[in-house]
Amino acid sequence: MDGLNKSMYDIGSDSAFAILARSQELEKKGNSVINLGIGQPDFPTPQNVVEAAIKALRDGHHGYTSSNGIKELRTVVADNFYKRNDVEIDPDNILITPGGKSVIFYTLLMFGEPNAEIIFPDPGFIAYKSIIDYTGAKAVALPHRMENNFSFDAEELLSLINDKTKLIILNSPANPTGGVVSEAELKKLAEGLLKFPKVYVLSDEIYSRILFDNHKHLSPLRFREIRDRVIVLDGWSKTYSMTGWRLGFGIYPKKIFNFAEKLAINSHSCVNSASQFAGIEALTGDQKPVDDMINEFNNRRNFLVSELNKIENIKCKKPGGAFYVFPRINKENMNSIEISKYLLEKKFIATVPGSSFGKNGEGFLRISYASTLKNLEKFIVCLKDFMNE
Ligand code: PMP
Repeated sequence: MDGLNKSMYDIGSDSAFAILARSQELEKKGNSVINLGIGQPDFPTPQNVVEAAIKALRDGHHGYTSSNGIKELRTVVADNFYKRNDVEIDPDNILITPGGKSVIFYTLLMFGEPNAEIIFPDPGFIAYKSIIDYTGAKAVALPHRMENNFSFDAEELLSLINDKTKLIILNSPANPTGGVVSEAELKKLAEGLLKFPKVYVLSDEIYSRILFDNHKHLSPLRFREIRDRVIVLDGWSKTYSMTGWRLGFGIYPKKIFNFAEKLAINSHSCVNSASQFAGIEALTGDQKPVDDMINEFNNRRNFLVSELNKIENIKCKKPGGAFYVFPRINKENMNSIEISKYLLEKKFIATVPGSSFGKNGEGFLRISYASTLKNLEKFIVCLKDFMNE
């Protein structure tokens, strides 16, 4: 030990970033790597949004803003949420954050402590378990199975709740599977939670605009009976290709909002002001770039799912949203870490092993299709070669 507190040794990391670093190393050595590992859209931020940020800087918005975010932005977020979900939100319950990830961090700091239990999706976004572990709470895995279209079973979820359970984390559409929760399960969950009035829900809706076919987004905030204990996470990173702007938001129930705000004040103070002005333009300006991006993702998803299912020993569900496919790959004597490593080191294709998203991810690979169709075609050729080797 080197003097750090014990909890520091419990924080995990995000293997997608480690894989990105390794891809960059390989590229420096002259290899051309196809990166299907990282979860960020391969489209530029729409130009009108960039212009709005430049204008904000030119207009002199260089200082701190209020810690919860500028009122105009919070009002626009509330209007947009109403339009999409038919639920009225008080702008004063919205906390503008440096990316959606901060909402995970603050919320888990608010609920996690030794002896508490927090239920998280497995496979699921890596940050959930890392920070639950950091707080000392017990991370209770909720399986999201392929047979169930990578959604959860409400009865199974309810059976995991006990008097130590403080929070349930939901994520739809999901990273890493693209799974979308069904209305029926969500309804059963909302009804079941009436028996557990102290349990909160953190609904990670960062991919809620990226949906295909007839899938519709359904926020648990729509269920009146649990509305006073639902926290929503969303943001601009994925929908508007704004990962580097660091702009997200949390909607917190009034009774706990000031705790989230205090964490914000004591850590990031406020989000950079130019990003906040850009966020207003993103939500109120032309939505065609978003629609075009979703159409393109849809084409790539259709291509990948169809091609993957033609390969022997690979099975791939058609995901309802996000920009990932999560195929099951059976290759003798190789686990998902070994397969992903082999594809990167020998074929120069970056993917993320399913097991890095939890125990239930073993046997799968996460393929981000935030890359050109041409790259996806090359990937399929390499994968076929690998499966035949
Ligand atoms: N939640 C999920 C499920 C994600 O996949 C991500 C980004 N990979 C985030 C939250 C965080 O998004 P941001 O970049 O806005 O912090």
